[in-house]
Amino acid sequence: MNFPRPNIFISKCLEHGHCRYDGSQITSPEITRMMPYVNFVFACPEMAIGLPSPRQAIRLIINDNNEERLVYSMTGEDVTEDMLSYSISKAEELAEMDLDGFILKSRSPTCGIKEVKLYKTHGKTQSISNKSRGLFAETIIEKFPFLPIEDEGRISNFNIRENFLTNVFTKAKFREVKKNGAMKDLVRFQSDNKYLFMAYNQTQLKSLGSLVANHEKRRFGALIKDYEYHLSLLLKTVPQQKRNVNVIMHILGYFSKQLTAKEKAYFLDLLEQYNKQQIPVSALTSVLKLWAVRFETDYLLDQTIFEPYPVSLITVSDSGKGRI
Ligand code: SF4
Repeated sequence: MNFPRPNIFISKCLEHGHCRYDGSQITSPEITRMMPYVNFVFACPEMAIGLPSPRQAIRLIINDNNEERLVYSMTGEDVTEDMLSYSISKAEELAEMDLDGFILKSRSPTCGIKEVKLYKTHGKTQSISNKSRGLFAETIIEKFPFLPIEDEGRISNFNIRENFLTNVFTKAKFREVKKNGAMKDLVRFQSDNKYLFMAYNQTQLKSLGSLVANHEKRRFGALIKDYEYHLSLLLKTVPQQKRNVNVIMHILGYFSKQLTAKEKAYFLDLLEQYNKQQIPVSALTSVLKLWAVRFETDYLLDQTIFEPYPVSLITVSDSGKGRI
C-alpha cells in the first residue's frame, strides 16, 4: 500500500536534540521506527524562550491566586508569561502546517500532556499533585481539539500506539484527497476505509457516507469541509472491542460459503481469544486478509482495516501502561 507521510510535531528532546535541562536527549525506539515514514517537525519551547541547555530545572507551582505558574525550581524566577506568549504564537504557526498529530515529552512542566507534578512553591519541597499539564501542552490541546496528541510514554503502549498511527496515517491520506480536489478520490477514500470507519464509529460512518453520496450535488470545496469535520469526530472515538468484533463478523460473512467447518471453528476460537484480550485484533484481521487473497475478494483487499499504517511500524512491544 502507498502511504502519504503524516506531519507530526514532536518535542525536540525526543530523538531530535540535546535540549533537556541536563543537556540530554530522550531515546525512544517507537519514534526512531517512525522516522522513515513520517515528517517530524520539532521545537523545544524552553530553549525557544531563551533558556540554555544545560539549565536549572523548572517546575509548575500554584500561587496564592490559584494560578499555575512556570518557575525555576530553585530560584523561583517566573517564566510563565514568556512561555504563554511563545505557546500561543507557536500554535498559530503550527495551525498553518497541515499537522496530523503531536508527540510531546511526558510529564514535562512545559510539554507534558498529563501527570505533570505541581508544587506549592519553589525550593526543596515535595509536589502536591501530579495531575497538571505543561503550559505549552495546554495551549496545543486547546488549539487542536481534533488532532491526536500523545506522549512518548503512552505510545509505548501497543493499543495507544496503534490508535495514534491509524489516526495520523488516515489523516495524511485524507489531506492528499482534499488537496487533489477530485470527487472520485473521496469516493474511493470512503470505500477503502469502510470497515476501519465502522470499527471506529457507525454514526459518523453513516454521516460520511451520505456526504459522499452527495444527493444535493454540492461542490467539492463545500462538501469536503463537512466531510473533514465528521472524519475528525469519527477518529476522536476510541476503538472498542465490541465494534471490532462486529466488523470482523461482517468481513467473515464474505467467506462464509467458502470456508470449511474446521476453518470456521478455528476462526471462532481466535475470536474467543480476542474477546478474552489474549490476542490483538490484528491476529484476526491477518487471517481475514489471507482469505481475501485466497478467494480473490478484491474489494476487501483494498480495505485499510487490514493495513491502516505501514506494516513495518507494527511491533508487539507493549509497556502495558496507559489507556486509550
Ligand atoms: S520537554 Fe519540551 S521544553 Fe523540555 S526539553 Fe523537551 S522539548 Fe524542550
